[in-house]
Amino acid sequence: MTWVNFQTVRQGLDFSEVLAHFGFETKANGKHQVKIHCPFHDDANPSCGINLDKKVFNCFSCRAKGNVLDFFAMMEGLEPGNPRELRKAALLAVEVFGIDGGAQEAKSGNQPKAKPRAGKGQERASKASKPAPDSEGCATAKKAGDGASDAPDRPVNAPLTFELQLDAKHPFLKARGIGKKLIRAFGMGYARRGSMKGRICFPIHNEAGELIAYSGRWVGEDKPKDVPRYLLPKGFEKSLVLYNLNRVLASGQPTSTIVIVEGFWSVLRLHKAGVPVVSTFGASISDAQVDLLVQAGIDKCVLIFDGDEGGRVGVEQALPVLAERLFTRTIMLEDGVKPDTMDDDLLTNLPRYVRS
Ligand SMILES: [Zn+2]
Repeated sequence: MTWVNFQTVRQGLDFSEVLAHFGFETKANGKHQVKIHCPFHDDANPSCGINLDKKVFNCFSCRAKGNVLDFFAMMEGLEPGNPRELRKAALLAVEVFGIDGGAQEAKSGNQPKAKPRAGKGQERASKASKPAPDSEGCATAKKAGDGASDAPDRPVNAPLTFELQLDAKHPFLKARGIGKKLIRAFGMGYARRGSMKGRICFPIHNEAGELIAYSGRWVGEDKPKDVPRYLLPKGFEKSLVLYNLNRVLASGQPTSTIVIVEGFWSVLRLHKAGVPVVSTFGASISDAQVDLLVQAGIDKCVLIFDGDEGGRVGVEQALPVLAERLFTRTIMLEDGVKPDTMDDDLLTNLPRYVRS
């Protein structure tokens, strides 16, 4: 399967090139603005305005509007509101305009086998490739597109070249009722060394199942005030990843509906109950994360953020972003309740929501 990066495609498309490709004659209409005869209605005067800089179009007569990729899709007779057709358009655009990084072949098999403990030889090999002793679990990638001029950086969220040695038998996991099977599936454990020292670490994979980061939750009693409870590596772009999407895809079960939660523990509980679930690493969702769902063929979602102020604000932010592309419903939890602590009743009913 080919993965499409919608954001890259939209950024990579040049509206002037797209117009030239379809043979449009343009009329200048101010800085960055042109007008064309609208291709989506019978247009006597040029009434479709295009902002080349913002890469959007808007017809004042027939109300057709959207971004450059929508325009390209519509010109190809595809419906941009339909996730599958938009995906088709994006793939075509990558081919026609040669957009770097717009599409990528997913690795076959998707999910790498869990490697709880490397063999002797492997251990040595991975030690040799470690960048520095205290950069364990801490990617040094920079923010995307910050245009810094210093030494070439690793690409954002690039696969890691090492694995942390984690203790899967730490009592904290047992105390939270996380069983062996779940620990093996998710690969968590306690880090005794490195930048994640003193934390229960969750390996984070991209949608293709490649390990790209670790997040660590502080588990000691003696947490210093200025130390965050959850730690993500510097440079890690959480807004480009959905935690657990790799397992949902690798399960082989066709799913068109997915549950979206905030955190790791909620994912664990719902995954154990057989519910396809991803987390957004917090009470918000980005366009890039919605893109990931759309290209995975998902068109419905159930949003369950935590029952607290952050969760409620998060739902308000996330709803319009999701509803633009997916059929979205929400479950609001009572104060102090999270998906990992909600009633069993609610949990047992979830698969029904997901399948309906
Ligand atoms: Zn029009």
